[in-house]
Amino acid sequence: MDFYQLAKKYEADLVSDLQEIVRIPSLYDEKTITENAPFGIELRRALDWFLAKGSAEGFEAKDYQGYAGYLSWGEGEKSLGILGHLDIVPIGVGWSKEPFGAEVIDGVMYGRGTGDDKGPTIAAFTALKLLKDAGFTPKKKIYLIAGCDEESGMACMKHYKEHGPIPDFGFVPDASFPVIYGEKGIMNVKVTAAAESVVVKLEAGERPNIVIGEAEVTVAGLPKENDFDFYLATQDVKGSYRVEDGNTVYHFDGIFSHGSVPQEGINAAWHALNFVGGAYQDKVSHTVASLLADYRGKQLGIKKKGSHMGDLTVNLGIVRMHENDVSFVLDIRYPQECDGNELFQTIQKTFSSSGLNCEVQCLIDKGPLFVDPKSELVSTLEKIYRKHSQDNTTPLLTMGGGTYARTLPNFVAFGAEFPQRPMIQGVGDAHQKDEGVEVEALVLATAIYAEAIYELTR
Ligand SMILES: [Zn+2]
Repeated sequence: MDFYQLAKKYEADLVSDLQEIVRIPSLYDEKTITENAPFGIELRRALDWFLAKGSAEGFEAKDYQGYAGYLSWGEGEKSLGILGHLDIVPIGVGWSKEPFGAEVIDGVMYGRGTGDDKGPTIAAFTALKLLKDAGFTPKKKIYLIAGCDEESGMACMKHYKEHGPIPDFGFVPDASFPVIYGEKGIMNVKVTAAAESVVVKLEAGERPNIVIGEAEVTVAGLPKENDFDFYLATQDVKGSYRVEDGNTVYHFDGIFSHGSVPQEGINAAWHALNFVGGAYQDKVSHTVASLLADYRGKQLGIKKKGSHMGDLTVNLGIVRMHENDVSFVLDIRYPQECDGNELFQTIQKTFSSSGLNCEVQCLIDKGPLFVDPKSELVSTLEKIYRKHSQDNTTPLLTMGGGTYARTLPNFVAFGAEFPQRPMIQGVGDAHQKDEGVEVEALVLATAIYAEAIYELTR
């Protein structure tokens, strides 16, 4: 079969289907939550549209109380899953196109969700449709699953996994080609301690997964100008101070960054602790700063370089010090060679033997995603992508962040962004203003998905 020629024949269908679903403003809406619409009425409409569309094409459609649904096709002992999502992020500001217009201008369709993730999901749907119309009979059962809460907590897949069938393996068209076969585990750890400190107040960071770019620490007493000047002159951070009610407020300016790449930012709160620990001989600040001095977790005793995913990383994302109460949250990203439980135990041991009177809690631990890059799944997807895209250089990827693929075992992220396609001026990426997708790229993705489904189920 010439999958590209087939996909090309379905271009008009692809465009009109995508227009219909983009025109449903499927944002999470707390005010319209009802039974079977756990994310609000527009997501209910979007899922109904998807299931009705699939039924009309002869697929079996099943709804999981509005959390997610699937279209299934074929029979077999084994099953292949494809997982996309119908929810979108808010519009934001600055659009020059109609965010729910789904207008096609010079070969590009604009609208929220065109790239993330309605476009890729409809490409996968079109791939199933064209295979069915071509008379193909899969020897495995195929599930095209659509979730409704990828962007705000992934409650959709939590619910689905408790109630729906879990395919043996599959792919997720919600990231980039070629194939993302590994994602680090994500652990958030909270440490709470009671310790005497010169710090009157330090409140920095809101989310564990962001490097704290700015921090202010209030210390009892007059400023230590010389120590502060020396600190700023010798460290990679900017700052200033002022006196307030007999206390000194030191301000640190670092650099914000995503917590999965702490080395790309400068953590202002860590510098606040490090400075106070040294200049004031403040034991708790000094201990915490010392234990967190290396973003790879060396002093915590958890340093690890993964064979595929690179270094384990640690980000100090939230710090609260008040009166003698201290608490902070770490975001740790770990490669697949680490065991989450062991990792947590090591962290616990390190903190409790540091002399801090503290409690260490694991807030979340999402295990890593790892599918052997030499597996049949990954090698098949890679081969098909390279054939259609003629991209023979972009390596298979692993990453520190979390894609939707990690919600199901033996799933990898596969498209639908083409890393080597030239960017078009004025076309926004996922989550940005003027989000758009090139129709030709979606046709190509459809061909790739069709051939992938064919190869994996014939
Ligand atoms: Zn997405």
